[in-house]
Amino acid sequence: MTTPARKFIFGVDLDGVVVDFYGALKPIAAEYFGKKTDELPDTFSYGLPEWGLLDRKAGYDLSYDALHKHAVNQHELLRTAPAIPQAAYTLRRLSRLGVHIRIITHRLYVGGLHNKSVTQTADWLEAHDVPYRDLCFVEDKLSINADLYIDDAPKNILAYRADGRRCIVFDNPTNRALGNDLRARNWDEVHDLVAAAMTDKG
Ligand SMILES: [Mg+2]
Repeated sequence: MTTPARKFIFGVDLDGVVVDFYGALKPIAAEYFGKKTDELPDTFSYGLPEWGLLDRKAGYDLSYDALHKHAVNQHELLRTAPAIPQAAYTLRRLSRLGVHIRIITHRLYVGGLHNKSVTQTADWLEAHDVPYRDLCFVEDKLSINADLYIDDAPKNILAYRADGRRCIVFDNPTNRALGNDLRARNWDEVHDLVAAAMTDKG
């Protein structure tokens, strides 16, 4: 008896990769902090200190958590955020090639929002016609198996690399220090990197 070939699993982060999370958050953050949108720089690091966000210990109202809650509760951020150009289209192309798309997101990091976060996420994926087989809400991304991953957060990319896994770095200002190995600046480049990895695997 032959076992069918296992599909190629592509582990896909959402925010900053498929969903233009920072683009959607920026005008909301400006309004929340009483600033003009163009006062918030486009070059920023993780935790957004350049936008005036403070560490949670320094004051809850000015923390990332407070902004995130406001954005999800008052603006339905996870339902209304725009897509990264070509992301959904390219995932449909990859799906037709036989790629098994496994969404891996850490969107449950702010308490009290789980119902809205999950619902808004599923609605967004439906509205943008993103094909996926699995939808994993998880902090420890290493606990989820895939043949190839894509992420933009340095913490996750470094964890994948340290564990010997292959991860496409989706380029943004937070990850420029991580070198150019498997770096994609747009979804056309993602398509080619995934196709090449599938060929490598045979
Ligand atoms: Mg991300």
